[in-house]
Amino acid sequence: MCYANKGNYLQYANNIEPAQHARLDSLNDVFWIDSMVVSIGADSYFRWHDSGDLQGLWHLEKIAQVAQQTPHCLHWLPTREYAMVKEYIAKHGALPKNLIVRLSAMYVDKAVTVPASLQGIANIAISNVHTTKPIGTVCNAPAQQGKCLDCRECWTEKTISYKAH
Ligand code: SF4
Repeated sequence: MCYANKGNYLQYANNIEPAQHARLDSLNDVFWIDSMVVSIGADSYFRWHDSGDLQGLWHLEKIAQVAQQTPHCLHWLPTREYAMVKEYIAKHGALPKNLIVRLSAMYVDKAVTVPASLQGIANIAISNVHTTKPIGTVCNAPAQQGKCLDCRECWTEKTISYKAH
């Protein structure tokens, strides 16, 4: 049911997939952190990953460094790699103040269970997925042609519930 396996992702796969792989390869570039900082520039909000996920602790550490070097910008990172987030917290103790990490649901209509080691950690948030009954604040994107527009709920610690699509 992944949205990245249908719609425009399928229709334009010939263009999108090579670009996704190029971005994946770029993670190992020594200039990746600096390049991300420059690309984000003066923007106030940044969302990581429209599809794909963390590749390892080292990847989250790089993202955290980008966040630390863009203190004017609020970052939102969705992930199902709970274990990598746990590794990060165990090693660093806290997330950067301007980085919200959203633990994405593993199952539809079942609330995320935050691992004990991540409970009470600042900037850890939850994203659930529902069919009929929301489990948290409902995402308005489906009513806005799939766009966030001026909504910034995912850059907060609120539990968000996305309609399964
Ligand atoms: S809750 Fe708001 S910010 Fe989050 S995806 Fe939906 S529209 Fe965008």
